[in-house]
This record gives sequence, structure tokens and C-alpha cells, in this order.
Amino acid sequence: MALLDELTGVPNRRAFDRALAARMGDAQREGRPLSTLMIDIDLFKTFNDTLGHPEGDVALTAVARLLAGALRRPADFIARYGGEEFVVLLPNTPGEGAEVVARRMTRAVHDAALAFEHGIDRRVTVSIGMASAVTSTGADLLRQADLALYLAKRAGRNGYASFVDDGAAHAQMQVGTT
Ligand code: GH3
Ligand code: MG
Ligand code: MG
Repeated sequence: MALLDELTGVPNRRAFDRALAARMGDAQREGRPLSTLMIDIDLFKTFNDTLGHPEGDVALTAVARLLAGALRRPADFIARYGGEEFVVLLPNTPGEGAEVVARRMTRAVHDAALAFEHGIDRRVTVSIGMASAVTSTGADLLRQADLALYLAKRAGRNGYASFVDDGAAHAQMQVGTT
């Protein structure tokens, strides 16, 4: 069964689902935090509508390369989650470390200045939601990162947000833009 995404060349969702379960198990066993990042291209429907789907595919592939290039450790893992969404696993990495990676990623995409007249700053940007845990389920971690992503979008896009588990189960915004 294929484990790579045909368009972008990064691992696909099937590969990710396997990795998530395995790395969550490692985290629990070793007592070390696993961080996950949900990454979504901003206003990508508008991009396709104005520049065309083939250009959209080119931008998607460029973004995948930029995001993958922002990872530094051999155990870090990126996959295309679907559509214009990517997901990252950072084993043995607490929230502060995940934030460093998220900032590097938003900055890398922003600084690449992929042209997009109707985008934030007239370029392609991404928003990122993240969550970290030592003991959780993959499904919960993804849900939390997705909630944080929603907040990053609401805060204006081209930024990131962290899910902070304070018992009230609500995400807390971190720094806004790159
Ligand atoms: P937001 O900033 O809120 O994420 O806005 P958005 O427009 O990115 O969000 P929405 O979910 O409305 O649109 C996602 C769009 O991504 C839909 C489609 O045009 C585009 N898209 C999804 N998959 C592909 C793909 O494989 N290739 C191309 N070219 N475009 C895709
Ligand atoms: Mg999306
Ligand atoms: Mg989007």
C-alpha cells in the first residue's frame, strides 16, 4: 500500500496514522512529550479560483518542500493530511520546542514569497495549530491541534496557536504572526 503522497512526495495520511499511533506509544512509555502540528494553507480556495488548480498544485508542492525543510531532527515526521493540510510529529518535544518549529515554518513559507495577489501580504502563507502530550491518544492530540489551528485562523492567519490543557479544555493563543 502506498505510503507517499503522489503530488508532493511527502508521506501520506496512511503513513501518518501509523506513525502517530507508534510515536504516541513511545511517548507514553518513555514519559516524553510528543508534539503535533496541523498546518493549513491560508485562503487556498481563493488561490485555486484565481490562479487555477494546476498553479495550486505547484504551490502545494512548494509549500510541502518548505515545511519539510524546516524540520531538523531525524525523528521529526511530516505528512500530507489531505487537501491543502499537512501534519507534523515531533517526538520528544515539548510545547516550547513545537513553537520554535511552528515559527520557523510560518516564516519559511512567508519568506519564500510565493505570489498570491489575494493572499496575506500578497503571498502564500500557512496557519498552524499545535498540541503536546505525554499521555494521550492520537485522536485527542489531533483534535486539540485542530482546535488550535481554528484559533490561528481566527486570529488572522499566517500564524500559530497552541492548545494549552488547563483543565477547561480550551486552546490559548500564542504569538500571532511571523
Ligand atoms: P482558510 O484560510 O480558512 O484555510 O481558507 P481556504 O480557502 O484554504 O479553506 P477551504 O477549506 O475553503 O479551501 C481549501 C481549498 O484547497 C479547496 C481547494 O480549492 C484547495 N485544494 C485542496 N486540495 C487541493 C489540491 O490537491 N490541489 C489544489 N490545487 N488545490 C487543492
Ligand atoms: Mg483546509
Ligand atoms: Mg486552507
